[in-house]
Amino acid sequence: MREFDYQRAHDVAGAVALLGADPDTRYLGGGTNLVDLMKTGVERPARLVDIRELPLDEIETTPEGGLRIGATVTNGDLAAHPEVRRRYPALAQAVLAGASGQLRNMATVGGNLLQRTRCGYFTDVTQPCNKRVPGSGCPAIEGEHHNHAILGASDHCVAIHPSDMGVALTAFDAVVRFETADGPGQVPLADFYLPVGDTPHRETALPPGALITGVTLPPAPVAARSRYRKVRERASYAFAIGSLAAALDVRDGVVRDVRLALGAVASRPWRAVAAERVLTGAPATAETYAAAADAELAAARPLPHNGYKVDLVRNLVVAVLTELAEETAR
Ligand SMILES: Cc1cc2nc3c(=O)[nH]c(=O)nc-3n(C[C@H](O)[C@H](O)[C@H](O)COP(=O)(O)OP(=O)(O)OC[C@H]3O[C@@H](n4cnc5c(N)ncnc54)[C@H](O)[C@@H]3O)c2cc1C
Ligand code: SF4
Repeated sequence: MREFDYQRAHDVAGAVALLGADPDTRYLGGGTNLVDLMKTGVERPARLVDIRELPLDEIETTPEGGLRIGATVTNGDLAAHPEVRRRYPALAQAVLAGASGQLRNMATVGGNLLQRTRCGYFTDVTQPCNKRVPGSGCPAIEGEHHNHAILGASDHCVAIHPSDMGVALTAFDAVVRFETADGPGQVPLADFYLPVGDTPHRETALPPGALITGVTLPPAPVAARSRYRKVRERASYAFAIGSLAAALDVRDGVVRDVRLALGAVASRPWRAVAAERVLTGAPATAETYAAAADAELAAARPLPHNGYKVDLVRNLVVAVLTELAEETAR
């Protein structure tokens, strides 16, 4: 591992000033992703700015009735918070579906959104990878890609984003707040991750040197009836091969409101806008749910070894919406 300097920030302005726009410096959240990548040489920062003592570890109700979640709130505290569990249960479930208890007690909200892909070529510095070394190629397209993207990928990169938390936050229209030397800013999570195109190394819309200060969830009554379902290759401690955050409001047999976001299918948490459009105002039946999934999956471009994800997503959508509708009817 390359030697590095370590500094601890005590306030937000100080953290931003310490980082500056130095491309060789990184913020350190829980370190559960960054330090692993430093050990393998994927990340080689000269300096770390530890942000864990910043006053960004609160979860508060907003005047509008949403939630403001600080960037250094740990995954564990987020999942345990009573208002998260009551008002956005799919978010608590998504976080609890990730990693392990020890990791969730270290990992933070900001770090989870910025964790890097688990593509095996990206994490192996002996391999070419357009995301790690722009222009070097994407061996996953012809090689190992059984857990790669079926939506929104390009000829330059087919990696998926591994976050579970981000999928639920996307379903609930979260907004990412950040601070730069020029002042605060915010960006909807829907626009936070950049399209892959021919620049897979450019991952987010954050300005250089920006510190994520938190995320804001707008009020969403439908979110109280929500669920996160994660499919993985073993029962725990594994990343998703497909996941769904869903919220559903059915009245008189008709879908009044619905939120859907998919995980492990694209380079970002994937808001299923086409499926939501089919569902809204339609009869709450299994046929409608399947038609909604098909509308979303019309854009899927599976590779030779990940076509199973198309069926997996379709089944997830039908199963989870059916369960939510039955609960609503009770
Ligand atoms: C074995 C294992 C299994 C896991 N399983 C899952 C899983 O199933 N699902 C899942 O979603 N996650 C999973 N994770 C990922 C884990 O949740 C992430 O490692 C974690 O969320 C990253 O958070 P962190 O605070 O440790 O980030 P760090 O490692 O500290 O940072 C990650 C990146 O974010 C940057 N950063 C951190 N905070 C900020 C900020 N506030 N502003 C700007 N930049 C920032 C850092 O500079 C770095 O580039 C797993 C991790 C491990 C090691
Ligand atoms: S899929 Fe993306 S991350 Fe994986 S090898 Fe290709 S360019 Fe690299």
